Amino acid sequence: MKFDWWRRLVDKRPGRSGEPEGGPWPLETRVAFVGPWFRPRWAPVFSSFSDPELARYRPDVIAAPLPTLLELGEAVLHGGANAPEAELGVAPLTGVGRPAIRPAERNLLWLALRMPVFEQFRGPAGELLAWECEAHAGLHIVAGRAEFFRSRGEAEIRMRLTRDSISVPTGLEGRVETEPCACGREGPRLCGLRTVGQTPEQALTAAV
Ligand SMILES: [Zn+2]
Repeated sequence: MKFDWWRRLVDKRPGRSGEPEGGPWPLETRVAFVGPWFRPRWAPVFSSFSDPELARYRPDVIAAPLPTLLELGEAVLHGGANAPEAELGVAPLTGVGRPAIRPAERNLLWLALRMPVFEQFRGPAGELLAWECEAHAGLHIVAGRAEFFRSRGEAEIRMRLTRDSISVPTGLEGRVETEPCACGREGPRLCGLRTVGQTPEQALTAAV
């Protein structure tokens, strides 16, 4: 099982996993970004999945905006495109004003790419704000960068970056869970996210 070795690696590096930008992986994880809305300083960016440099880089994780990954999934399943390879998984990038991933879309990515899916919620400059762990039970909120909350009577989650004084609507509904995660990590998580305006039934169905 692929996860065992990196879990051991994580355990050997207390306090270093998941920081500062990697999600559940150790710091030395090779993350390749494809078509992100930001310019990461800590990892290379590729313009497309067919870029030969991407395969040459041999990424552990491929991270790309959710719609970009879904397009790739469709192209692999129905268009005969080759799936890129990554050792640890694929990270759909979501954020404020961007659609939440639906269960059916997760299935599509799994069927097409055969890699575990770890969603990452990133800020406007690409900063990691919340990330999905190996228990796949919501997104762990990175402490000290942003606050997520729901105003009284509101279904939509709002976000306030630590450096900002005002909060913004995220375009997502869901809840902030404070119970410890099945992975053993503590701290709040974003759970049950779905795009505002979607009914729970629509959230389950993929429009891909
Ligand atoms: Zn967890």
